[in-house]
Amino acid sequence: MDCLFCKIVKKEIPARVVYNDDHTIAFLDINPANPGHILVVPKKHHESIMDADNESLEKAVLVVRDLSKKVKEELKAEGVNVLQNNGKFAGQLVPHVHFHIIPRFQDDMVIISYKRSQIADAKMDEIRKKLETAPIAYPKPAPKEEKHEAPKKPLMSPDKWVDL
Ligand code: AMP
Ligand code: ZN
Repeated sequence: MDCLFCKIVKKEIPARVVYNDDHTIAFLDINPANPGHILVVPKKHHESIMDADNESLEKAVLVVRDLSKKVKEELKAEGVNVLQNNGKFAGQLVPHVHFHIIPRFQDDMVIISYKRSQIADAKMDEIRKKLETAPIAYPKPAPKEEKHEAPKKPLMSPDKWVDL
């Protein structure tokens, strides 16, 4: 298959591997946002997180957790962003599911930003209903019967750029 990350998995192209087991490989991003930027890649080829099988994802997420800890401890990161892009409009360049681990430091030059908005209550309720009731294709735990009230006021002020 003509997939960059599959080629790294098969050792057809080189990578600076920091973790490798039967299900998951992790290597340094070739164009890091910060030193120590890691990509965690399930070995089985799936284009996006929506296509990936449970086992691949479960194993990969544990590697994400452990490598995030390592990045904090070994590289003295003061924070860690875990990012995961799906689809070209979400910024996905390599169509093989992967997680970014980006070490963060005070006053670093990394910019991850979006503008907070406010949406009318009726629209928010409509969206919630659509998402809650739509069927999903994989086994999920039984939903809890708890009643969750919608917040009356925004918990955070809108119209602010969120700079992580
Ligand atoms: P995404 O935009 O989420 O698909 O991220 C793809 C990432 O893969 C980018 O951050 C690239 O810098 C990185 N990348 C592309 N080619 C390589 C490579 N040969 N080795 C390591 N990282 C790569
Ligand atoms: Zn692939």
